[in-house]
Amino acid sequence: KSFFNNVPLAPPDPIFHLTASYEKDTTPKRINLGVGAYRDDMGQPWVLPVVRKARQLLLEDPALTHEYLPIAGLPALRDASIRLILGKDSPAIREKRTIAIQTISGTGANTLGAAFLAQFHPVRTVLVSNPTWVNHKGIFGNAGFDVKEYTYFDSKTLGLDLEGMLSSLNSAPEGSVIILHACAHNPTGVDPTQEQWIKIADVMEAKGHFPLFDCAYQGFASGDLDKDAWAVRYFVHDRKLECFIAQSYAKNFGLYGERCGALTVVTQTSDLADRCLSQLSKIARVNYSNPPAFGARIVSRVLNDPELYTTWTNDLRTMSGRIIQMRTLLREHLIKLGTPGNWDHITRQIGMFSFTGLKPAQVSLLQSKYHIYMTSNGRVSMAGLNTNNVEYMAKAVDDVVR
Ligand code: PLP
Repeated sequence: KSFFNNVPLAPPDPIFHLTASYEKDTTPKRINLGVGAYRDDMGQPWVLPVVRKARQLLLEDPALTHEYLPIAGLPALRDASIRLILGKDSPAIREKRTIAIQTISGTGANTLGAAFLAQFHPVRTVLVSNPTWVNHKGIFGNAGFDVKEYTYFDSKTLGLDLEGMLSSLNSAPEGSVIILHACAHNPTGVDPTQEQWIKIADVMEAKGHFPLFDCAYQGFASGDLDKDAWAVRYFVHDRKLECFIAQSYAKNFGLYGERCGALTVVTQTSDLADRCLSQLSKIARVNYSNPPAFGARIVSRVLNDPELYTTWTNDLRTMSGRIIQMRTLLREHLIKLGTPGNWDHITRQIGMFSFTGLKPAQVSLLQSKYHIYMTSNGRVSMAGLNTNNVEYMAKAVDDVVR
């Protein structure tokens, strides 16, 4: 008799499961709009030119070894991560009240943040947007939090329900942890405007909530690293709020499999920041000992070299520009076809994803009849579209919504 008999079969992860179904489909017309990974106009994964260059430089370096990194990661990457999100002239950096620890990409930054907050944060409630990145609930639930939702998406306007959001934040227990998407909200592509962020900060401050910014798309959303960091910088510099920022280099460097990210912490004093780093390091040590080195070396090289940095900003504009172009083309095709409904939200939304408003039955028909794969909530990864398949996609959508 095996004790494993007590182990129930867990359901497959919806996104990875979707990709597996797509892989099994042999139709040449098939389109994968599920996974949030950038593809070029040929539908292929794209190694950023700046990553190729930095990788080459690393491989040519005779001093390159495969030694362990320190527990907190590569120091040059950690410092550069703080500068990237807060800006190089950040008063918080000058006052030394911010630290960063290298993490296992954005997921690891969230997980480490959750483990820390579970240990030290006095309030056990976390609020995530409705809807949100699926993993938020799992990560914070696993860490022992009571996970609740705040109103976010308005299914009538396919935009932000600001009043609903403010009212949820207002009625949450004082001092709750609030997960905010720094930019390019996943899955909706709907971000608050600057005026709306100011109102959100007002409630966060009044209620003493703790913000955890999940920042998986800096530079990838608008193509402008500073613009995509606006909300975080407003909270930190203008409002002097403490926060966590979970940063991922998966999307903006195309380094999905290298698992490189950072958790940046902003506190009121330099002493508090040091204490946080020591405790985060302690959690990292027992979980994975120290983070992977190769991706971190690539990112660090680029962030710390002015010439490579400029190349990177061009690569970011290539990716975000192509995504924005696909939004425009998809909307134009739908308008040309006279597809019922209003499709303005496709170009209003930003980042990797568009929340199309397609219903589960329509999504299912797109898959069975047209071999187009997307999550059942109607979320489309715009990166899966290109000049060869966008018209086919528009015609398929036109058919299923009629
Ligand atoms: N947070 C959000 C909102 C995301 O969309 C993603 C990726 O899809 C992540 C975090 C983390 O991704 P990774 O662990 O690959 O950096």
